[in-house]
Amino acid sequence: MISKRERERRRRASRRHAAKVERHAILLILLAVTIAVICVSCALTRRDDGKSPVPSDGTTSSTTTTTTSITSTTSTTTTTVTTTTTTTATVRPTVPTSPVEGHYVQPAGAAWNLVLVNDWNNMPSDVLDTLEDNLVVYNAGVQNGKVDARIVDALDAMIRDCNAAGGGVWAQSCYRDYDTQEVLYEREVQSFINKGYSREEAEIVAAQCVKRPGQSEHNTGLVVDFNYCNESFTGTKGHRWLEAHCAEYGFILRFPEGKEDVTGVVFESWHYRYVGVEAATEIMRDGITLEEYCEKYGY
Ligand SMILES: [Zn+2]
Repeated sequence: MISKRERERRRRASRRHAAKVERHAILLILLAVTIAVICVSCALTRRDDGKSPVPSDGTTSSTTTTTTSITSTTSTTTTTVTTTTTTTATVRPTVPTSPVEGHYVQPAGAAWNLVLVNDWNNMPSDVLDTLEDNLVVYNAGVQNGKVDARIVDALDAMIRDCNAAGGGVWAQSCYRDYDTQEVLYEREVQSFINKGYSREEAEIVAAQCVKRPGQSEHNTGLVVDFNYCNESFTGTKGHRWLEAHCAEYGFILRFPEGKEDVTGVVFESWHYRYVGVEAATEIMRDGITLEEYCEKYGY
């Protein structure tokens, strides 16, 4: 026979136990929601190949409402948790638009070293017409070994001094002709069409990774990609040296970090563009882009 006092004691103990179970259950749910949110934000900031500025990796977000009931011996609590989950069934990045609005359009007749070639500025026809005359074979052993003759001395000096300081750099990709760019671009467009995009959408998305012919700086003969032309160059001795000294030779780090909206290209530690010492000094000193420099002076 259990005494009234003992029954009361057991009831209180049971209530305390139930309350404890409930607290633990709520903590577990909060933990699960936190993990889910972290996973979603990681997935959304990932870039598909580290090179293309894909604003979304194609996962579509949907909001799911999860209702969890916690039942204990003494009370029933219903907790409603709203969490965001990702559906990976449709892998389609958002198709961005490239409006000229908000982007500097260079007037005709720019100096050869300041010619702006990007998503909003095609290679000027006068530059295209005289391009071939200025190209010389550069370091023929490497891919696309041609550059504009007017940058050869500066490029030679920069590479020599960088390597004397232990940089270990070589020019890998320089001039690319219009036709080669067209082939590369078309290949990229096709890869998106194969993923289910319309031609129009594919052309826009592809241009984020491979520039349209006439919109790639590689068509100018004024740029050089170092080493393996990819992220493996970032943070190397060569990259750090070039970033610190390129302006002394008239070159700029063309696509700096944090300026993606201005250049239309993600950070590329390996891509340098010749603009001349005066412009390069100001651009590198002020941490601006060629677009911003040209706009500032109306070049
Ligand atoms: Zn490049």
